[in-house]
Amino acid sequence: AAPVSILIATALAAKKGILFKDGGAMETLAKVDRLLFDKTGTLTEGKPRLKAIQTTRYSKAYLLRMAAAVERQSAHLLAEAIMEAAEKQGIVVPEATGTMEIPGGGVQGLVEGKQVRVGHRQWIESAAGEASDMDAIFGELPADAAATVLYVTIEGRHSGALLLSDTLRSEAAEVVAKLKPAAKLSIVTGDQPTPAYAIARQAGIEEVRAGCSPERKAAVVEEERRGGHIVAFVGDGNNDAAALAAADVGIAMGGGAGAAMQVGDIVLARNSLSGIADAFRLSKAALKNIK
Ligand code: ADP
Ligand code: MG
Repeated sequence: AAPVSILIATALAAKKGILFKDGGAMETLAKVDRLLFDKTGTLTEGKPRLKAIQTTRYSKAYLLRMAAAVERQSAHLLAEAIMEAAEKQGIVVPEATGTMEIPGGGVQGLVEGKQVRVGHRQWIESAAGEASDMDAIFGELPADAAATVLYVTIEGRHSGALLLSDTLRSEAAEVVAKLKPAAKLSIVTGDQPTPAYAIARQAGIEEVRAGCSPERKAAVVEEERRGGHIVAFVGDGNNDAAALAAADVGIAMGGGAGAAMQVGDIVLARNSLSGIADAFRLSKAALKNIK
């Protein structure tokens, strides 16, 4: 049976909306020295908004309409933001057929007989096979380092870019400062280096691994564990499920994807990062009482 101090700490944590699934997680958390964070929806609010549209050959409304048609099939936060923007502008979004989502890449499909792709630069470049004049498109976008830029091709031709911006959670910097003495912190994200480093700077985190597929996120966790670290991963998405499962302690943001909450050892029911600092404090206090 779990020592009484663990049971008490678990109950105290639950009152703060920090749900430990078992006493083992409480014991392991006290020993964690490596803390890896997903970016989107974990360090950021996870409510990206469409801030700007840049087009090369069509109207902005047409570009958004075509992008929204393929994104309707996706459950990604970026897809939601694009749908929301289209709705706000009163755009009637056409049906897309043959849609396919490439996790960590983008989405494609046929809209009104035209092939449409929306995704990040690398994926678009590899999928489109057209020599890119993307810097020209990018250069005219408003400077917002933290923003995620999605590129759109129609019939394989670069047609525009969508700039989406998400904001750092209000509690993030304070929580990071509290956790720094206990563990080395990093961001491990599927997003590109530019927005990843911008959010890292705002949060006070030095190390960044960008462009990570869900498998890569889990591999980073494994590498750190092989390096002798006790690793906690904090995430919110389906794309974090493998990393959460691989970690010594998986910490899932409440309000995130079901898969993340299912595999997480700890669920932050209040959907706030503050729970992590509280969880560390409680676990260390509980362990001290056992020894
Ligand atoms: P994250 O949630 O950390 O951004 P993902 O692995 O879900 O990580 O996605 C990585 C990147 O792949 C996104 O930042 C985006 O550029 C691109 N991407 C993923 N899904 C979509 C989608 N449905 N539409 C457009 N781009 C996408
Ligand atoms: Mg996420």
